[in-house]
Amino acid sequence: MKYISTRGKDNAGVSGAYAIKSGLASDGGLYMPEYIPRLSLSDIERISHLRYPERAAEVLSLYLTDYTYGELLEDAEAAYSSDRFDGHPAPLTDLGDAGLMLELWHGPTCAFKDMALSLMPRLFVRAVRKCKEERQAMILVATSGDTGKAALEGYRDVEGTSIKVFYPTDGVSRVQRLQMQTQTGNNVSVVGINGNFDDAQNGVKRIFADEQIKSELDRNGVFLSSANSINWGRLVPQIVYYVSAYCDAVTMGRIKLGDQIDVCVPTGNFGNIFACYLAKKMGLPIGKMICASNMNNVLTDFLSLGVYNRCREFHTTMSPSMDILISSNLERLLYMAVGSERTAKYMKELAECGRYALSDEDMDKIRCDLIGYHAEESETAKTIKWAYENKNCLIDTHTAVALCATLRYKDENKAERNILTVSTASAYKFASDVYTSLTGEDTQNDLNALEMLEALTSVKIPSPLKGIGEREILHPESISVCDMERSVKEFAKRS
Ligand SMILES: *Cc1c(COP(=O)(O)O)cnc(C)c1O
Repeated sequence: MKYISTRGKDNAGVSGAYAIKSGLASDGGLYMPEYIPRLSLSDIERISHLRYPERAAEVLSLYLTDYTYGELLEDAEAAYSSDRFDGHPAPLTDLGDAGLMLELWHGPTCAFKDMALSLMPRLFVRAVRKCKEERQAMILVATSGDTGKAALEGYRDVEGTSIKVFYPTDGVSRVQRLQMQTQTGNNVSVVGINGNFDDAQNGVKRIFADEQIKSELDRNGVFLSSANSINWGRLVPQIVYYVSAYCDAVTMGRIKLGDQIDVCVPTGNFGNIFACYLAKKMGLPIGKMICASNMNNVLTDFLSLGVYNRCREFHTTMSPSMDILISSNLERLLYMAVGSERTAKYMKELAECGRYALSDEDMDKIRCDLIGYHAEESETAKTIKWAYENKNCLIDTHTAVALCATLRYKDENKAERNILTVSTASAYKFASDVYTSLTGEDTQNDLNALEMLEALTSVKIPSPLKGIGEREILHPESISVCDMERSVKEFAKRS
């Protein structure tokens, strides 16, 4: 299987290992497989009898044909081992008439990013070897909160790599910031920036495109790569849990093999929902995908109007991992819907004017698969309370945005199919806002919020978050956006 760029220039095709090693294609596009492999119902039936790591190896082997099945299985077994994931890595919860919930936060950092970032560093190290790359890799990450911590945990002390994370100093939750600032490891750097996630992501993209920085790092024996969902190595492990969830829904008796289910995903950079889209294109029986946004509803507007317009007010919400106006992976969807030539044109318009518009015909194609909803802050809070009181289910702010969309979609469309709502973080990562949503009382964003929420609900604080307030701050630094380049160069000399 070869990988080609969404923008069409770099299209002789590269191996899976090369795509994972480099992150971004040389024309600035994102790597995509040259075709989408198929899963038949009998494949799905067979996979349903396997454990999660084996399910992962099955799906990965369809895409990463330059890795052996043995390598993929070994990496998946290590990534989803019981010392990292407590029990099933991606269990389903039954919410009765509200459908099913897929919980993706049982990993080491309590957010769904662990599903990919537990596995990706292992694929990456093999990729470096397969490509006979001798330089050190510096993994550059822009994070809206959860990717940073999950990538730090995945790459810390991994030989041949260092990792540098930029996060918006005032754009993450208290727990998220502490998780990153207290990160241990000899090859890590964590820096806050005085901007929002888009500023961090644009800064990182600028550094990737800067030939002068590239050659300076090269002289130090360092090359850059990415752990963001623009990297194919992030996306392919995310396809696995959709296949796995479908298998489990069949095994539970909620659906029959071959029945379609709808899926609702809380969306920011469009990585998670795009993995679902790929699963559908592979043949997994998925009906509609519901794209749930918070007040930064650029995707809701895109899906209803056919115009992507990032020139709008940026809102800081209680679901910060979705506070994004430029959803990078939408580029992959465009590529599949309209091809590389027009994708390149739209991306140029986005960079130059901040907007692009699709034809009605193209939008009709996209709308066969996707529908968008967004939740206001008050609706998010109400949904947290509703789920706890009616379904005995404690959900975080991001999951609440999705559940709110699920309930609206069901109501408006009289939807008959089962809906799978994707739950992307532990409520304790956003304990303060969850507590306030449940009680109407302010916790002063206090770290006590974790204990207060535990006392209120009797749901245990996940062990990775216990005592987070007492750990030593190792990375207090915060810089201005224009200092990101310098910070990267200095880190390269140090590592
Ligand atoms: C990253 C994240 C999202 C958004 O996922 P994308 O793949 O960026 O669309 C949603 N919820 C949580 C908790 C996240 O960490």
